[in-house]
Amino acid sequence: MSDDARKGYRGLARTVLERHGVGVWSDVEIDSQQGRFTGLVLPRSETADDQHIVLKLSSGYNIGVAAATVVGMKETGRREAHYHIPEKEFPVDPGKPNVVLLGTGGTIASRLDYRTGAVIPAFSPGELYGSVPELADICNLRTEKLFGVFSENMGPEQYIRLAERIGECIAEGVDGIVIGHGTDTMHHTAAVLTFMVQNTPVPIVMVGSQRSSDRPSSDAASNLINAVKAAAEGDIAEVLVCMFGPTSDQYALLHRGTRVRKMHSSYRSTFRTIGDVPLAMVDPAGIRHLRQDYKRRRTDRSVQINTAFEEKVTILYYYPNMRPDVVDAVVEKGYRGIIIAGTGLGHVNKPLYPALRRACEKGVHVYMTVQTLWGYVQMYVYETGREIMGLGVQPAANMLPEVAYMKLCWALGQTDDREEVQRIMLTPVSDETTDREPYNGYLVFQGEIPEVQDFLRSIKR
Ligand code: ASP
Repeated sequence: MSDDARKGYRGLARTVLERHGVGVWSDVEIDSQQGRFTGLVLPRSETADDQHIVLKLSSGYNIGVAAATVVGMKETGRREAHYHIPEKEFPVDPGKPNVVLLGTGGTIASRLDYRTGAVIPAFSPGELYGSVPELADICNLRTEKLFGVFSENMGPEQYIRLAERIGECIAEGVDGIVIGHGTDTMHHTAAVLTFMVQNTPVPIVMVGSQRSSDRPSSDAASNLINAVKAAAEGDIAEVLVCMFGPTSDQYALLHRGTRVRKMHSSYRSTFRTIGDVPLAMVDPAGIRHLRQDYKRRRTDRSVQINTAFEEKVTILYYYPNMRPDVVDAVVEKGYRGIIIAGTGLGHVNKPLYPALRRACEKGVHVYMTVQTLWGYVQMYVYETGREIMGLGVQPAANMLPEVAYMKLCWALGQTDDREEVQRIMLTPVSDETTDREPYNGYLVFQGEIPEVQDFLRSIKR
């Protein structure tokens, strides 16, 4: 067996494999002090320890068997490593809607790199279809890989390219657009696209997955099917996010692009509509609208694309004892806009006041949002709020901090005129500010957690 056959394994783990004539991609039965394990030996991450052998069980889950506990090991077969999923050409049915899937990267376009143990972008959208053939029941799907980045690497260059490509696809006549995107900053991109692409006649549905497709608990396929459904058949012609609703894959929620946020670092049901209720629920059987105040699908092709973007904007997340030099430094570096995520109703400490006044006097546009995410900036309630407004800081109602950031980048890309910037900032494009929170918005648990429901039922009895 070649050296390569034990790739990544070092020290004790490697010795144990060698002793039993076993390598990576061997089907094995391992007898250890903890019992017997049957599975496939996977390559070991180069950065991992040298004490464990990684086994993929038939359930699809991977476990680490401590090499020191191994008492026997038998190879029952060998497999070939398949690193690529073949791209599959989509069947065309003239009776079905035409959807384009624009790939930008993220976990939905990823699989595990067994050499480094990291998740790498590896699935092209075409490969994705190869593994989710149900998509052909819904539409004719064309796929285009625009970028292959994890979403922390998205920025103005990608936003602009994406917005322009959306405009072209609409002009070409597509019935719906799906954007595959990393989940981490999906809500940032959803917000900026809402501003850059206005009056779309078709749904623009962003989708991602929290767990890569090589994992049994992956949400990639179900999210993709639901997103494609919303793009192909849905009536909501807006920028939307379509992701897991409850903890299991019963349905996805459709969130408005300016009111959505990633709220959990690892749950699949991580996206929540904030300050409002989601627009709809989607499952393969159909779309159930939760509200009626949305922009309807149209047959015309008149969309407005405005890709203005000023990069010199920042968010200052206030914390007690924040020092004024932070504000001064930002101004000195030439920043033209600051979004403050303030405490409570929109506050910062007194030592910051002179620095904020200096910033406003230098023409920097400063807007206040709230860290609580739910609720409104209300600077008339406390004297401190009134004072902060007196410095020139503008309250941004219930705009989420990241949304306010994207909107200020977009506004300052168009003008530096104070009143005009203010008009753009405070005139909602798509509910980034609303007159009121619905009475049930904060209370409705968007996407029930079945375990919690069972628990509540059991104690009510
Ligand atoms: N880090 C990944 C990204 O945002 C996570 C994901 O896709 O879920 O690109």
